[in-house]
Amino acid sequence: MFKALVVTKNEETGKTAASVDNLSLEDLPQGEVTVAVEYSTVNYKDGLCIGPGGGLVRHYPHVPGIDFAGTVEASEDDRYKAGDKVVLTGWRVGEAHWGGYAQKARVRADWLVPLPEGLDTRQAMAVGTAGFTAMLAVMALEDHGLATGHGPVLVTGAAGGVGSVATAILANLGHEVAGVTGRPETGDYLTSLGASRIVPREEINETVKRPLEGETWAGCVDAVGGAMLARVLGQMKYGASVAAVGLAGGASLPGSVIPFLLRSVNLLGIDSVMQPYERRLEAWRRIARDLPMDKLDAMVQPATLEDLPRLGADILKGQVKGRVVVDVN
Ligand code: NDP
Repeated sequence: MFKALVVTKNEETGKTAASVDNLSLEDLPQGEVTVAVEYSTVNYKDGLCIGPGGGLVRHYPHVPGIDFAGTVEASEDDRYKAGDKVVLTGWRVGEAHWGGYAQKARVRADWLVPLPEGLDTRQAMAVGTAGFTAMLAVMALEDHGLATGHGPVLVTGAAGGVGSVATAILANLGHEVAGVTGRPETGDYLTSLGASRIVPREEINETVKRPLEGETWAGCVDAVGGAMLARVLGQMKYGASVAAVGLAGGASLPGSVIPFLLRSVNLLGIDSVMQPYERRLEAWRRIARDLPMDKLDAMVQPATLEDLPRLGADILKGQVKGRVVVDVN
């Protein structure tokens, strides 16, 4: 038997409930690799899957947890053998498939990557999907020409998971980082991660009034979307790019195409779920190289399986600071 956070749904009321339960290996879904999970984490999507489902979970009972890191216990695939350390992010694990909020997980070998050199399983989960996505966003900005010396790079939702990791990576690479936050009390935290300027959320949250404002940002990692993204597009420098990562502030884009047409601004889409294997390896290599581990440690709050219902609700309200690492044992 092993412990797992199990979400059930009352078919009459439609309400879901999450609690820690005992499961057995026979309960696990099919897959080539069984992993003894060591750590998981809490992303925005996890908040949805622990709670109301958000249309992501199709079948109940469900074990959420979109990320995990641990040790292979049994493998029917040549690429992995018992004792190997592995990491999983994405592939709809924790949504359509049972995920990492359990002491054991069984998944397809294609979904795993070897634990990146230079990281332990706890650090890999301090990074998690949020940090992995932040790295993909920075790589996309670089692929589209961002280099140090071009000017300040904006990070929206800066005190959240994606924002914290993006801030630390960009600052470590030598960029001047401006962090947008709606929580002024996180100012010192963001400065400690390397932000040199804090932009209050209300300064940049208003609906677009003029399609073009002063050319301010050399790049942007946007975790917020909605009106903020629309506004930021009009503040980008000529030819600069915004990596659109999230929708913490809304899924709409209430702006105009003028920044694309008159300033050659690029809007780059970032998906972490279906990234091909080689790009995943590259992103993890870059994380091990470009994310200072002391900064990562400063972002982490530890948690257990029992804490997850509360943390899931918190992240949906935008109240989690930095990254949560869940010790499932
Ligand atoms: P967090 O909740 O940790 O961070 C989101 C941050 O956004 C909050 O901390 C807050 O930052 C800010 N925020 C929240 N609500 C609002 C609002 N109404 N208006 C403006 N800002 C707001 O989540 P994550 O960092 O894990 O994820 C961020 C987003 O990225 C989510 O939408 C998530 O779904 C998405 N995502 C997408 C991925 C992909 O593959 N594309 C992968 C991972 C995440 P502050 O307090 O500093 O203002």
